[in-house]
Amino acid sequence: MSLGASQLGQARQLGILGHPVGHSVSPAMHNAAFRAQQMNALYGAYDVEPSQRKAALDGLRALGFLGVNVTIPHKEAVMEHLDEIAPTARQMGAVNTIVNRGGRLMGYNTDGWGFISSLEEHRIRVTGVHAMILGAGGAARAIALHLGMAGVRRISVSNRTVSRAESLVTDVRATLPDLKIDAVEALSPEERNALMDAGLVVNCTPLGMHPDEVSSPIREINLLPQGAVVYDTVYRPMETRLLREARIRGLHTVSGLSMLVHQGACAWEYWFGRRGPVGLMHSAALAALEGKL
Ligand code: NAP
Repeated sequence: MSLGASQLGQARQLGILGHPVGHSVSPAMHNAAFRAQQMNALYGAYDVEPSQRKAALDGLRALGFLGVNVTIPHKEAVMEHLDEIAPTARQMGAVNTIVNRGGRLMGYNTDGWGFISSLEEHRIRVTGVHAMILGAGGAARAIALHLGMAGVRRISVSNRTVSRAESLVTDVRATLPDLKIDAVEALSPEERNALMDAGLVVNCTPLGMHPDEVSSPIREINLLPQGAVVYDTVYRPMETRLLREARIRGLHTVSGLSMLVHQGACAWEYWFGRRGPVGLMHSAALAALEGKL
């Protein structure tokens, strides 16, 4: 369905706030789903400089936006301008989804939920597994918390700046005191030992992301045991160097496009009270990505 001029004027407004944001495939992904489901809604990309963050949020209230997604560099800083923040988003220290309820902006985080849904889609079980998270930023926090809640046996968080991994570990322990979770320094002997025991490895660094496609967060893929799953949150390119090397070694690999789609589909629960159409959103995101690489 294409919207006529009078319908366009009444469309529910949504979008993504980021800086830069021109590369985002979220508008293509959500708008394709709105069209397919004959919904009168429009999703735009809004490049918001950090200095304009509060003004942009006031604008959402003034213009009656239904909600937005939030991406780099606003995920953490946006929190101080919201009226309410869901407990899980507060635990993660970041918001990626905002809903405007009658002028009150509510913050949520669907990254971890999207990650777990993506594992379920790929029939990957994490109960009893030793998970290794590479990176200690916002994505790593969300994934660590959700993997902990999903019943992994142990989590090792490896980061270039080990103090940041330690701080993540301290925060996750505050929420899940019984979880076995430890911090190691990237490329250290401790990281090597953890990789040799890992059943699931999740890259939460930008290493390997376009245009730096020659990089990988793992130097020795052969350290990973047979049967390990390698998940890259990076989705540009779809198959990063990490995933290519893991595939050649015979390991199960998953691209971050799946997480992107599921976090977007989960955001629909907050905006529309139901999950977004995952298959359709995946096809649209993939088409946009292939057109933009
Ligand atoms: P972030 O908060 O900025 O954290 C970045 C992490 O990567 C930090 O741990 C940082 O280490 C590490 N890092 C950055 N550059 C590095 C380098 N050159 N060498 C080694 N480590 C490096 O970012 P984020 O929001 O967590 O995002 C991380 C990745 O996840 C991004 O690639 C993003 O595209 C991806 N992501 C994907 C999805 C999805 O839906 N698929 C959702 C969210 C994020 P230091 O602490 O030492 O700086």
